[in-house]
Amino acid sequence: MRLAIQSKGRLSEDSIQIIKECGIKMNNGVSKLTSSSYNFPIELLFLRDDDIPDYVADGVADIGIVGENVAVEKGKNIDYIKKLGFSKCRLSLAVPKSVEYKSSKYFDGKKIATSYPKILSDYLNSESINAEIHEISGSVEIAPGIGLADGICDIVSSGSTLISNGLKEVEVIFKSEAVMIGYQDISSAKKAILDQLIFRIESVQNGKINKYILLNAPNEAIDEIIKILPGMKSPTVLPLAQEGWSSIHSAIKEDEFWERIEKLKKAGAQGILVVPIEKMIL
Ligand code: ATP
Ligand code: MG
Repeated sequence: MRLAIQSKGRLSEDSIQIIKECGIKMNNGVSKLTSSSYNFPIELLFLRDDDIPDYVADGVADIGIVGENVAVEKGKNIDYIKKLGFSKCRLSLAVPKSVEYKSSKYFDGKKIATSYPKILSDYLNSESINAEIHEISGSVEIAPGIGLADGICDIVSSGSTLISNGLKEVEVIFKSEAVMIGYQDISSAKKAILDQLIFRIESVQNGKINKYILLNAPNEAIDEIIKILPGMKSPTVLPLAQEGWSSIHSAIKEDEFWERIEKLKKAGAQGILVVPIEKMIL
């Protein structure tokens, strides 16, 4: 099965990281144009991100990892398999700081520079705004300053690039993160490999959002503590060497842990340890 990933850029490192965390080992590093694994039936293709939806739509690559913004902009016949949770960013409209902006109607009759003409025109149509789209492939943020456009539509993550170019963000039109996309006519043999890969990715993702919690408590507090801990099935309770005390183990979502910590302490929990989970199979 062939997986297309970005060769160099904002998606590359995390895409390779996901493969590694799934226990997939590559033969010849990641510096070549392709690389195969010796312990999982997968081959990596290293491409420019803009080309990945085409390769996947044509079936040259069976699956690919790309920003949703690029996948949707290319508008190809591809399956959206799974959001991957990294490279989060948004596509926004921005105008010069000095503009008194009240609503998206501002853009009526204006010229907007962007590298995302499709997503922008879908947005403008949905808002019934009649604006001229000026497509450029890079350095979009300088367009208003040099008189090329009245506003821009570009990728924003922190917003610092906009500010340093004298612009302000006025509308978020699309939210993006890295997604796994797939060929629509994937063979059943490759689908089976893909299912294995997805299973591994989900185990890693579950491991990341969950923590393993261990705590000590007097035996009479066990019932109440178990009510506070959600647990995968039911917490493990082990006797401590000290009479009348037990150790309670469970898995908990990190955000739930912060909500419940006070309750746990009040119920009598002591020596609470929270440790990372590498993989979690539900
Ligand atoms: P290529 O040379 O492969 O065409 P590129 O310059 O088009 O690369 P990158 O800048 O590496 O692309 O960005 C790849 C993707 O990462 C974007 O399409 C977007 O989904 C996401 N991305 C872009 N900017 C940011 C950012 N500042 N923070 C997080 N994610 C981002
Ligand atoms: Mg690109």
